[in-house]
Amino acid sequence: MQNFAVIGSGTMGRGIAYVAALGGFRVHVQDVHSEAVEKAQVHIEKELKKSAERGFITSDEASQAIENLFYTTNMEEAVQEADIVIEAAFELMEVKVGIFKQLDELCPPHTILATNTSTMSPTEIAAQTKRADKCVAMHFFNPVHKMKLIEIVRGLDTSDETVWMAQKVSARLGKETVEVNEFPGFVTSRMNCLIGNEAMNMLMEGVASAADIDKAMKLGLNHPMGPLELADLVGLDTRLRNMEYLYKTLGEKYRPCPILIKYVKAGRLGRKSGIGFYDYSGQ
Ligand code: NAD
Repeated sequence: MQNFAVIGSGTMGRGIAYVAALGGFRVHVQDVHSEAVEKAQVHIEKELKKSAERGFITSDEASQAIENLFYTTNMEEAVQEADIVIEAAFELMEVKVGIFKQLDELCPPHTILATNTSTMSPTEIAAQTKRADKCVAMHFFNPVHKMKLIEIVRGLDTSDETVWMAQKVSARLGKETVEVNEFPGFVTSRMNCLIGNEAMNMLMEGVASAADIDKAMKLGLNHPMGPLELADLVGLDTRLRNMEYLYKTLGEKYRPCPILIKYVKAGRLGRKSGIGFYDYSGQ
């Protein structure tokens, strides 16, 4: 395995491309929006140089990774030689299904098609292809270069060989894996979305300030980040889509908090827009 492609170059696509290039893969990064591709290139190169300056990687590793990365808006160009593709586009079933249909037509027959969905059914996504055995979910975490885990989620027809390959690729990216059978939200998002939504409900009910809810969870329950600062890091638009899917599939306890809906309507998307539950405009 040598050729890696990432579809969608937002928060997660950039992070996945970064670790894949450092893992020695040739990586094509594709997005439908040219600004997203340009932003991703600036971001990834800046982060690689910063990591080299701080001594986390050598400057040779950073330069090699930069040389291994290719950016495009053309899906065919991105995937025509790919051994594995990770889709990291919007958390919307119609978007993912459309991408997988295209990937199935454009990729070589051996290519593994993985989705980075946080919540959705890899079986439903794979059903749009003629290679459901080669489709799987590989759920990375944010920020990708720091987080150790990839959740590998089997769809109904995912083969053992595909799971094995996904595990091997994850190891090459320096990640640990857990294998999860398909169920909405897998292990992590199902739990994390509920905690985040409860924190938002508490904020709405006036139980405590955002800062005190987060502080309570960090110092009282030993969470490394508070649920509201984590939601801001994820992106409130992405979190709302996660909640909407979980609400639809798992029911009432996942009803998205009205504050989350209101913030997304206002364009308060968390870190990526400069304001969410906290204000990042000064950073
Ligand atoms: P994002 O909004 O930051 O980026 C999504 C990117 O996909 C955008 O740049 C958009 O232009 C692009 N895109 C949309 N449609 C496309 C298409 N048809 N072809 C190619 N590119 C397309 O979203 P994100 O936060 O990076 O989330 C991406 C996926 O990763 C979602 O499925 C999400 O649930 C999952 N995820 C997110 C996080 C997180 O913390 N943000 C963590 C784990 C998994």
